[in-house]
Amino acid sequence: MRRWAVLLVLTLAACEKAPAPKTLPNLRESAPPSPAGLAPLPCDAKGSLYPLHQRYCRDDLNFVTPAALKVLTSAAKKLAGPRIGYMDASWPSGVKPMPPHYSHGDGRQVDLALFYEDRQGRPLDRSPVAGYGAYEPPRRESERACPGGARGKQERPDPPRDRNWRLDEARTKALVSALIAYPAVRRVFIEPHLKTRLGFAGEGKVRFAGCGAARHDDHIHVDFY
Ligand SMILES: [Zn+2]
Repeated sequence: MRRWAVLLVLTLAACEKAPAPKTLPNLRESAPPSPAGLAPLPCDAKGSLYPLHQRYCRDDLNFVTPAALKVLTSAAKKLAGPRIGYMDASWPSGVKPMPPHYSHGDGRQVDLALFYEDRQGRPLDRSPVAGYGAYEPPRRESERACPGGARGKQERPDPPRDRNWRLDEARTKALVSALIAYPAVRRVFIEPHLKTRLGFAGEGKVRFAGCGAARHDDHIHVDFY
């Protein structure tokens, strides 16, 4: 082929656009195998169980045990409407801990988003923050479990008072209630002020992670057996 013809072919090839996908693709085409036998949580951003940010799938932080996957899929179905957003679960290696977490890594832990509504009380479809940090602060300063902040590190600050989102208590309560009903769920970590506010004061499976851990009023941490 002559040089100009080769150039023309190359130029045409470079200009050709891939057809636009009709639906949102999965955020990761295929998950790597897990030597620990863990399974990836779904990566469809529009699904009923979805990653709060694509990095959880892209960085392979979405692995759980098959039993945990079963519970989470079932809980998402049971809620029938509100979609469950997840953050860090485990990596495929199954090695615990998975920094910066004190746990995670063996597939038996997952962090789930709380539910939120706008200031008019209209439910939001997803967390206002694409990851950790959508804190629901205590209503009174005396309810703060770690007034001096987390041990050994700066406590993350509350979000601005004039933010346009709030905790959706009813849906968050429904999520925690659904989860603790499964025998495979060992415990759920949440800040004490939310435990009381959501009506779980007498519930042994709903616990405080302690002041050495991250704040648990932007997510709940679920431990599986
Ligand atoms: Zn966690």
